Amino acid sequence: MSVSENVTSAIRELVDANHILFDQGVVDGFGHVSARHPERPDRFLLARSMAPALVTEKDVLEFDLDGKPVVPGGPAPYLERFIHGEIYRKRQDVMSVVHSHSPSVVPFSVVTGTKLQPVCHMCGFLSAKGTPVFEIRDFAGPGSDLLITSGKLGAALADSLGEGPAVLMRGHGSTVVASTLRQAVFRAVYTEVGARLQMESMRLGPVTYLTEEETVGTTKTISTQYDRSWFLWLKAARNSPMSQ
Ligand SMILES: [Zn+2]
Repeated sequence: MSVSENVTSAIRELVDANHILFDQGVVDGFGHVSARHPERPDRFLLARSMAPALVTEKDVLEFDLDGKPVVPGGPAPYLERFIHGEIYRKRQDVMSVVHSHSPSVVPFSVVTGTKLQPVCHMCGFLSAKGTPVFEIRDFAGPGSDLLITSGKLGAALADSLGEGPAVLMRGHGSTVVASTLRQAVFRAVYTEVGARLQMESMRLGPVTYLTEEETVGTTKTISTQYDRSWFLWLKAARNSPMSQ
């Protein structure tokens, strides 16, 4: 496969990921998904600033890790592209990043005393210790717009993510990472599902969460299955009235 074919196929899959994340209710008009460049680990692919469901191949731009478009003078980029660049810089293992405001996750970013934790096997990738919450006030003061609009804030968010799969952003949303694009999409969908299930479980009574060992076991088994949901969700997205 030539270099350009690699890039072309990465762009095509990234477009599919945009459509799936909308169809699955993870992103709406806002939120974004990126992939590390398949040939240049110091770059990443991300759509121009637009609603994910409407992204086409020609909307995908190439960025360096500082969040600067490789080709200057192009269309407006996402304000929060620094989330992606700074995570790729800090985490060599990360090949894809999803940032969203998916609604069931946000409550866990604003309460004290309750952390987002894995309640079922499909969410076993979530940290058994609880998902960290990034407090932007610690870095941007008390009057920010809550968005990650600089490399400095992106780096602080990446620090808060640490070596984990997800970080919540107080009063804003979440960012999920993975070693493939399909795994990142899976994790973004099941972070939302897991948050919803945890809230419903907590209404019924004390909750039994997965142990550290169970998170390892479930993640290992599910790691062979990402294509199963990917192709289902892709077909659903392509059959949606949005893609007609
Ligand atoms: Zn955001």
